[in-house]
Amino acid sequence: MLRSKSGTEWKKSPAHLLLLSKHLSPRVTSDFARGDNWQEVLGEPVAKAINRFKDDNVIDILATDELLDIKYKVTELKQILKSKQIQVSGTKRALIQRLLNADPEGAQKAVADMTVYICTMEGKSIADQYLAHEKEKRTLTEQHVLESLKNAKYKEAAIIVAQFEAEQVFPRGMGIDWEKYNTKHDEIFLNKLFTCKPKVLSALSNEQLYTGRLIGALRRLFSYSDNYLSLPDDFDNPTVYDKSSILHLLMSNAYFHTVIAEAVELHRTLGNIVIEVLTVNDDLVCDECKTLTKHPFEINQVPELPYQKCTCKFGCRCSISARPQY
Ligand SMILES: [Zn+2]
Repeated sequence: MLRSKSGTEWKKSPAHLLLLSKHLSPRVTSDFARGDNWQEVLGEPVAKAINRFKDDNVIDILATDELLDIKYKVTELKQILKSKQIQVSGTKRALIQRLLNADPEGAQKAVADMTVYICTMEGKSIADQYLAHEKEKRTLTEQHVLESLKNAKYKEAAIIVAQFEAEQVFPRGMGIDWEKYNTKHDEIFLNKLFTCKPKVLSALSNEQLYTGRLIGALRRLFSYSDNYLSLPDDFDNPTVYDKSSILHLLMSNAYFHTVIAEAVELHRTLGNIVIEVLTVNDDLVCDECKTLTKHPFEINQVPELPYQKCTCKFGCRCSISARPQY
C-alpha cells in the first residue's frame, strides 16, 4: 500500500511498477478500469497513479502523429486528405505526415480529446528494469523448485511456488489463497509423476522420462501452458508420439494415478465410489478410447490411462473422474 503521497515512494510499489510497465506500449487509462482490480492493489485510484507518473515524467501523452495513427484508418485519412485536396497515395505514415504538414492545428485538434500515454525514456528504463527483475525472480524460483524436485521434496517445491504466487501483484488462479495454500494435491501428483511409468511410454528410458518428469512438474506447479518448457531439441525419441505428446501422456498418467489414489481414500470413507472415463469429443478420438466411456468402472478395474490400446494419433487424451455410484 502506498501511504506517502510525496516523492518517488511509488517506485518501491510493485503494483505501480507493473502499471508503469503496461505503458511500454500506448495505453488509455480506461484500459485499467476493467478486469483486474487495480485500485485495490495500487491502494489508490488508477487515475491518481497515472497522474503521479505524469508528474514524475515517466509517462507522456503520445505524440500527435501516433495519436492520428490510432484514431484513423487508412481510408479515413484518405478521405480527410481528399477533402483538403491533398495527395492520397502512399503508406499510412506518409498520409499522416502529409496531414500534419498541411494542417498541424487541425490535426492536433482532432486528437485533443485522446489521452493515450506511453513511457518516456526514463519511464521505459524503470519499467524495463522492473520486468527484468521480475523475470529473474521467476527464473530463480524455478531453479529453486527444480532443486527440491530433484531431492524428491515435493511439498517443499509446492510451498516455494505458493510463496512466489502470494508475492505477485495479481496472483494466478481465481480464489486461491496462496498464503494458506494446501499442497496435498500437488504432493500426490508429484509423487505419482516421479514414480509411475506409463505403459504407453515404455520405449523411453528412465533417464529420458526423468527429464520429462521435471518439465511436467514445473508446468503443473506454475500452471504453465502446454507449449511453455519442452523436451530438449536433441531429445532422442523412440516413441510413435511427438515430444509434446510425450509430456502430455506422462502428466496424464500421473493425473490418472492421483485420481485413483484419492478415489481409494474416498471409497474407504464414503464407499460406493466409481470411476468414469471421459474422452475428448472430436474426430481424432479412436474407437478403443470411445469404448471406455460407455460405463463407469470399479476403482480396481479401470484400465490405466493413457489407454494402452489407444490408436489416437497424439496419444490417448482420456481422463477420469471419481464419483459416488448412483
Ligand atoms: Zn484413443
